[in-house]
Amino acid sequence: MIRRLSSYSPLVILPLATIVLTLSGCYNVPVTGRNSVSLVDDKDINAKAAAEFEQVKKMHKLSRNPAQIKIVNHIGSRLSKTVFWDVPLAEWEFVVFQAPTTLNAFAMPGGKVAVFSGLIDFCENEDQLASVIAHEIAHVAARHTHERFSQGMLLSPLGAATSIGVGGAISGVGVYMPSVGSAVGGVTTAATQLAFDRGKELEADHIGLMYMAKAGYDPREAMKLLEKMEEREASSGAVGPPGWMANHPGFPQRQIQLMELMPEAIKIYENGETGATHTIIE
Ligand SMILES: [Zn+2]
Repeated sequence: MIRRLSSYSPLVILPLATIVLTLSGCYNVPVTGRNSVSLVDDKDINAKAAAEFEQVKKMHKLSRNPAQIKIVNHIGSRLSKTVFWDVPLAEWEFVVFQAPTTLNAFAMPGGKVAVFSGLIDFCENEDQLASVIAHEIAHVAARHTHERFSQGMLLSPLGAATSIGVGGAISGVGVYMPSVGSAVGGVTTAATQLAFDRGKELEADHIGLMYMAKAGYDPREAMKLLEKMEEREASSGAVGPPGWMANHPGFPQRQIQLMELMPEAIKIYENGETGATHTIIE
C-alpha cells in the first residue's frame, strides 16, 4: 500500500529527514581528516557571522596602534593564503581590539578574526602570535560552528531554524583562552563555554600547528607560548569561569598533544619555502 508522506506522523518523518540531511552534509575536517556533519549552508552562516562581527566590533575599542594592526594583518595574510583551499568562501578580516589586559583572540565563520591587544603585548615574537591566529583560523576551517549548529539540529530538528538565527550564539567562537566570553560580551559567555568542547579545542590546536608551519612559522613557538600562558595563569592564581574546566582542555593536555605532533610540524616548517620573519613585536 502506498501512503502519502504527509500521512506519516512527524515522529517518523523527522528522523528520516535528519538521516537524509546528514548524508548530504558530510565533510572531512582539513588536516585531521575527521568525518563531520554540517547541515547549515556556508553562505547563510557566513552572512550571519559577518553581521554579528559588525556588532561585536561596535562593542569594543578598535586599536589605533599601527604596529599591532600591521603585524596581525601580516600574519593573517600569510595564514589565509596557506589555508585558501580549505576555506574558499572565506572573506578574511583581521581586527585588533584595544584591550591591554585581555590575552585572547577569537574567530567567526567566514573568516572574521579578532585579536585583543593584550595578547599581542604578551607574545614574544611573530611566530607566537601566529600560533594563536592559526588556532582561530583552524576553528573556521574545521567548521566547528557549523558542526555545533548541526548537532543542535539533530538533537532538536524542530528548533533548528531558530537556533541558527540567534546572533549572540555566533560571536566569540574559536576562543584561544576560555576567558574571552566576558571580554566579548556577556551574551557570548554561555556560547563560548558550551560550544567548544575539549575535542574541538584540541583539534584546532592540531590543525593550527600544521597551518602555522605551512605558512613558515616555527611551530615550536606554539609550545613556548602555551608554557608562558600556563606560567602566567599559575602565578596569578587565575581561575576560569564556572563550567570552564568541564569543557576546556587543560594546559598539560594541550602541551602533550603539541609534543606528539611537533616532529611532523617541524618537518613541514623545514620543508617550507617561506621563511618566518621572527619579528620582535613592539
Ligand atoms: Zn579554540
